[in-house]
Amino acid sequence: MNKRLIRINDIKLILQELLIPKESYESVWDIDLEKLKEKNISILLLDLDNTLLSNKQRNLSIQHLNWLQKCKDNGFQLYLLSNNRSKKRVQKAAKQIECNGIYLAMKPFSFSTKQLAQTYHINLKKCTVIGDQVFKDIILGNWLKIHNILVEPIDKSMSLLVRLQYTLERFLIQKLSPNQ
Ligand SMILES: [Mg+2]
Repeated sequence: MNKRLIRINDIKLILQELLIPKESYESVWDIDLEKLKEKNISILLLDLDNTLLSNKQRNLSIQHLNWLQKCKDNGFQLYLLSNNRSKKRVQKAAKQIECNGIYLAMKPFSFSTKQLAQTYHINLKKCTVIGDQVFKDIILGNWLKIHNILVEPIDKSMSLLVRLQYTLERFLIQKLSPNQ
């Protein structure tokens, strides 16, 4: 009986380490930039879809562009880390933000993040991964032991499958949260 209890606790710990974001906010502009600086974080690895740009949008909003400029003004380096398979869409956003990035990143797998780091000589210890999906952005960050921040998706009118994933992600965070 004890053995079984230990095992369940171990699984819970592993899931906590993988799924619980280091910080979470409603929107990107709620992120405490000063707190990041105190943690020696100076590079933002940004998810694109539903973090900076809703699926319906083609261009970044002025509000998002202003926030990204504020990050730059605060000394942060920005990179796009997008799973989107459309090179054109990611390239267009990168041009608007005036940053480099990667499309078809295949998060939560870490190889393209490592490739990005190698290409641009990025110290991953100084990074935070910012995104709206636990199963993609947060697992990637936690797997690579990079600081990570979960934000709520810009557009919550999702397809059934995405809605199911979103509901499961938030349910797991709530259940696994250490202060539950
Ligand atoms: Mg996203």
